[in-house]
Amino acid sequence: MKAKAAAPSKKTALKKAAPKKSPAKKSASGNNDVAPARINEILRRLAAAYPKATCALHHRNAWELLVATILSAQCTDARVNMVTPELFRKYPTPEAMAHASLPAIEAEIKSTGFYRNKAKSISGAAKRITEVFHGQVPRTMDELLTIPGAARKTANVVLGTAYHIAAGIVVDTHVLRITRRLDLTKNTDPKKVEQDLMQIIPQDHWIQFSHEVILHGRQVCIARKPRCADCTLETVCHSPDKTWSSH
Ligand code: SF4
Repeated sequence: MKAKAAAPSKKTALKKAAPKKSPAKKSASGNNDVAPARINEILRRLAAAYPKATCALHHRNAWELLVATILSAQCTDARVNMVTPELFRKYPTPEAMAHASLPAIEAEIKSTGFYRNKAKSISGAAKRITEVFHGQVPRTMDELLTIPGAARKTANVVLGTAYHIAAGIVVDTHVLRITRRLDLTKNTDPKKVEQDLMQIIPQDHWIQFSHEVILHGRQVCIARKPRCADCTLETVCHSPDKTWSSH
């Protein structure tokens, strides 16, 4: 994909970032990597390149997205999307899933890998949501983190995509790799990376930022041999991993 940066327009212009006290970080190039102007430029270019970025996991509600996200660990979204229609046809609600046996769930999700652990998580999540949350996936981070199989990344996916609640930033393998390449964080622990990003990215961009970066990671800034010549962020990226550079 040839990702081109669009010229700034009134439509795409973003609000000035007003980060909380973020530490000024100088890169090897001498730039302040987390300066609001640079962050805004990265956000503007990503939004222009990926205007329709959204979650690739098919779902009709928060429960289905929670299950699909659990299934997506170590598995492609395309594979998960092949499995979930039949799974939800048989067990459409948390209550129905809570009554399903583990072997029955395992049989439905086997092709997604790690199916025994995933079945335990899905069954445990269904039971907790049924028994404690009256069949509704909760809407707060603290409550979601009590659900089996839902760590912070999964909780952020559900809150952001299903409920449009910006409680945090999804940090998956793509977000981790790309934000490090862009010098937005020096950390490797996803929780610390998320905290770093929450300090420098305006909250009203938290949800969309993850969608855009994940798409960028799949299409352009891939792990091996990133396609830097086609990258909309090339002129603001100083990563030593770059395969092509204009500066
Ligand atoms: S220039 Fe290359 S390394 Fe930097 S964000 Fe773009 S694709 Fe990734």
